[in-house]
Amino acid sequence: MSSVIERLRRKKISTQINITYGLILFSTLFLINIGTTAGIYFLFHHQAERAIDDSVDRITKKVSTVQTIDENFFDIDILPSVIFRATDDGGKVIFDTNPHFTATDKMFKFVRKNPPFWASDKYILMETPHSFFYYKDLPLEVGGQTFHFQFLRTITFEKQYIRYLLWAIFFADLIGLGLAVMAGNILGRKILKPLGQVTKTAREISVGSMNKRLNVGNFADEVNEISISLNKMLERLEEGFVQQQRFIADASHELRTPITVIRGYADMLEKYGAEDKEILEEATAEIKKSAQNMQYLVENLLFLARADAGTQILKKSPVEINEVLKSAVESFQNSRVEFTNDKTFEIVGDAEFLKKMFAAFIDNALIYSKDKVFVTLENFGDKAVVKISDSGIGIAPENLERIFDRFYRVDKARAKSDEDKISAGLGLSISKFIADKHGIKISVESELGKGTTFILDFRN
Ligand code: ATP
Ligand code: MG
Repeated sequence: MSSVIERLRRKKISTQINITYGLILFSTLFLINIGTTAGIYFLFHHQAERAIDDSVDRITKKVSTVQTIDENFFDIDILPSVIFRATDDGGKVIFDTNPHFTATDKMFKFVRKNPPFWASDKYILMETPHSFFYYKDLPLEVGGQTFHFQFLRTITFEKQYIRYLLWAIFFADLIGLGLAVMAGNILGRKILKPLGQVTKTAREISVGSMNKRLNVGNFADEVNEISISLNKMLERLEEGFVQQQRFIADASHELRTPITVIRGYADMLEKYGAEDKEILEEATAEIKKSAQNMQYLVENLLFLARADAGTQILKKSPVEINEVLKSAVESFQNSRVEFTNDKTFEIVGDAEFLKKMFAAFIDNALIYSKDKVFVTLENFGDKAVVKISDSGIGIAPENLERIFDRFYRVDKARAKSDEDKISAGLGLSISKFIADKHGIKISVESELGKGTTFILDFRN
């Protein structure tokens, strides 16, 4: 059985449905037909028994009213379906409604040895090659003589009828089943046809043709639902793919500058470096700076790549925010940064990542302003607010939304106060990732030419 199911499961869905459907239909028809035929069969047997009982009743009643059996006695109403015979004391047939029917004394070799369980034992069942009938002998005494009244009721025609009925039902079932399987096939193919199209389009979609979409019909059926879901998935995949491509292109572009610088100075060194001490010093310094910039870039790229892949592991533990903030401020060793804090605030987080996040904001504030940078921590009981504010160049409202995008810089050509450092436009996107991982809400208030304040909302 399990191997049959296993084999069925390897077939196409339409075939699976068809075979299952056909089997269910066939067994239902089979059970109904067997039930109906058996009912009719029992009914015929029962009818035969009732007909004999009825005739026996009539004869018994009539006998009780007469003294002798004469010609007039047989002027009696016996059901036409019953053969009625009477013999006198000597065994001579004195009345027979059907003399052509097999003689009683010759009948007994046809007695059925094992009558079916539903046949009453009040009767004898006989079966010849051509007929099947019930028999009952009723001996009664009239005027000192014993008469035998015999009743026969054939069910030959009924049995034949049942045989024909069974064949007819069998053929009707076969035709019905054939039609059902055919209709199932056509319907199945029609319903599953869109799935074939889904498969075809799915085969056509590749990295080079990610903009392809599946056709969506007007009906709200399952295949359409699949198509809609797959289209949404394709959209997300395409978006991710395009983003990744852009990321790679931007990253390569950013790496090109320090590489060009290194190559340029290396060429210069090759030509004059050995003789000119000044050039040697300048070239080494520039190469070192470019290498540092590249290292900074590659480290940040790796960070974001890990973030994208979901492999950026945070080592969370209870962290005092003011401690982390203090250490971030101190790492700059810059007197322009002023740090004031209310009370401390504890959250569960990754201290190293949080420090990286604070540093990115302070770094920006120092780069994009020339005056003091204020870092504050305020504790409001269930929440804390960290503000990093500067009075620098500010950010125009239309650019505010994009500053957290990777590689985004408001003005790529704008001169920075600290020219030595590369600006890749990655600091805020990394900060955003860290903030999201800690449930920190970031908001920005900025005015062009006046300054910028980044506000970080912490909740524990
Ligand atoms: P990186 O941080 O990778 O060295 P970056 O500082 O240019 O480079 P982000 O920190 O992501 O990159 O900032 C993105 C852009 O947002 C900056 O290039 C700058 O234009 C703008 N920006 C960020 N902070 C400030 C600020 N405090 N004042 C003015 N502009 C800012
Ligand atoms: Mg930055």
